[in-house]
Amino acid sequence: MIARQPYPETPDQADDSRYLASTHEVFNQPPALEDYNLFEQDTALREAADREGAGAAAPELSRFGALAGAAETIDLGFRANANKPVFNTHDRFGHRIDEVDFHPAYHDLMRIALENGLHSSPWTNPGQGAHVARAAKYYMHSQVEAAHCCPITMTFAAIPSIRNQPELARDWEQRILANSYDSRNLPDSQKSSVTIGMAMTEKQGGSDVRANSTKAYAVGAEGPGQAYELVGHKWFVSAPMCDAFLVLAQTASGLSCFLMPRWRPDGTKNPWQVQRLKNKMGNVANASSEAELRGALAWMVGEEGRGVPTIIEMVAMTRFDCMIGSSAGMRQAVAQATHHCRHRSAFGNRLIEQPLMQNVLADLALESEAALAYTMRIARALDNQDQEHERLLARLATPVGKYWICKRTPNHAYEAMECIGGSGVMEDCIMPRLFRESPVNAIWEGSGNVQCLDTLRALQKEPSTLDAFFQEAAQAKGADTRFDQFLLKLQNDFTNVSDFQYQARNLVDRMALALQGSLLLRHSDKAVADAFCASRLESNGGINYGNLPTGTDAAAIIKRATPVVG
Ligand SMILES: Cc1cc2nc3c(=O)[nH]c(=O)nc-3n(C[C@H](O)[C@H](O)[C@H](O)COP(=O)(O)OP(=O)(O)OC[C@H]3O[C@@H](n4cnc5c(N)ncnc54)[C@H](O)[C@@H]3O)c2cc1C
Repeated sequence: MIARQPYPETPDQADDSRYLASTHEVFNQPPALEDYNLFEQDTALREAADREGAGAAAPELSRFGALAGAAETIDLGFRANANKPVFNTHDRFGHRIDEVDFHPAYHDLMRIALENGLHSSPWTNPGQGAHVARAAKYYMHSQVEAAHCCPITMTFAAIPSIRNQPELARDWEQRILANSYDSRNLPDSQKSSVTIGMAMTEKQGGSDVRANSTKAYAVGAEGPGQAYELVGHKWFVSAPMCDAFLVLAQTASGLSCFLMPRWRPDGTKNPWQVQRLKNKMGNVANASSEAELRGALAWMVGEEGRGVPTIIEMVAMTRFDCMIGSSAGMRQAVAQATHHCRHRSAFGNRLIEQPLMQNVLADLALESEAALAYTMRIARALDNQDQEHERLLARLATPVGKYWICKRTPNHAYEAMECIGGSGVMEDCIMPRLFRESPVNAIWEGSGNVQCLDTLRALQKEPSTLDAFFQEAAQAKGADTRFDQFLLKLQNDFTNVSDFQYQARNLVDRMALALQGSLLLRHSDKAVADAFCASRLESNGGINYGNLPTGTDAAAIIKRATPVVG
């Protein structure tokens, strides 16, 4: 018989293990997925960065990958999300301050992103591989924490729009592109680095910004570069602590674009008042707000009445970042799911070796790699906008990719969560955060239907975009008969466009699949390309993940996607 200690009688005894019964040993649990290199442990990412022109950046990407995978960095993501930003209208003396109070972890994440040029590098060092290398970094950083990437993206994306007004660009660009972070709530004139947001959406219309009712009144002379006062409201303004915003407002000539700082040049607060913060289901670490403009001073950017074409240059870049962000969400979900199943056993075998789980994991990995391949190819197109083919490809493939990749993410996140089982639902696992974040990219920056309509608009305005798209996809012709047949049918379906708008989702879905298939056939592992053709091009893959046909080399696909930690 085992002798047992008596029950503890004093606090000291309660902490003494001799008085405690040993209940169980913890085993069959994976080690935490941390202290790993997000670049080195991601074969598809390393290959894509190299292939699309950022081979020379590999050492820098590896350095950043180690930083992104460090336990301390991962912890910042958890803490930034566990502590929602708090909005203060006034200080304790009653002065209006419009200040959002973020957890220090949010500021640390912002600092890492800005110091590493996630908002600036393709503009400060353009050329071969610049967008590709930046996309690779963003892809890694967004896996750690996606919400704070919103102001990073907007700051990055504002540059092409602001350059429409050279004197404003001269004043702001250097500070926008500075690789440092200054979170102080001070006039921008006192800062050497600033961040930029955007304010388009109003209550009565988000997709249809022509419905904007905010009015711009000229202070003196009218026209591009001139000062105006804005009166109206904005229903969604993310990252309201940005130093300035690109805003749409109506003049007598129609909707125009303005740059509106949070402070006036004389150091007083610009009358732009945040009403409250949105209570969001995802994207929690980032604040999004509702605001009123009560005569806020702003300067016109670009031609009067041409606000949409001016701000669309920013929106095109934010849409590209949505593709990176959703691809990143899928990659992190695959990393978590494969890592867990590699370490977890059930019914006598490791999950990663069990055929049914292999089918699910390999299917998730395919989706993730296809999203990455597509995104990185568009990054290369952005690096080569002086080449006509690349310009046309980026124009058409951006709305197609934004629609498809973002829309594929929520169900992907849910399936990866289920691979982890009950612990995947718990808030100390990253999966709930990935899941709640997953619909956001699909909805903002132009929701799914709007992307499909934009695809059609591009086709109608510049039919050569479709030629460029098919020319790009056709580069894999002859590599696989399933791909050839899929592409031929898609091309044929474009000959009858009478029902275009009604059928747009079906066409855009298949465009995305054709380009993904082409890229995987040309560049990826044979097992990945073969499974993609079998499950996405030959058949429609079934409704749920885990529908890869017999004969797929699931083990090879999973091995390629699994980070080896522990
Ligand atoms: C977390 C978050 C942060 C945001 N931050 C910002 C921000 O910082 N700045 C900003 O300006 N906005 C921001 N937005 C707003 C966002 O861009 C809009 O919500 C989005 O553009 C959709 O507009 P809406 O909400 O008015 O929906 P609506 O325009 O009413 O659209 C509703 C639905 O109808 C569909 N639809 C619209 N037109 C058509 C059509 N012709 N045919 C078929 N379907 C159609 C849309 O695709 C959508 O599914 C944010 C949104 C979210 C969720």
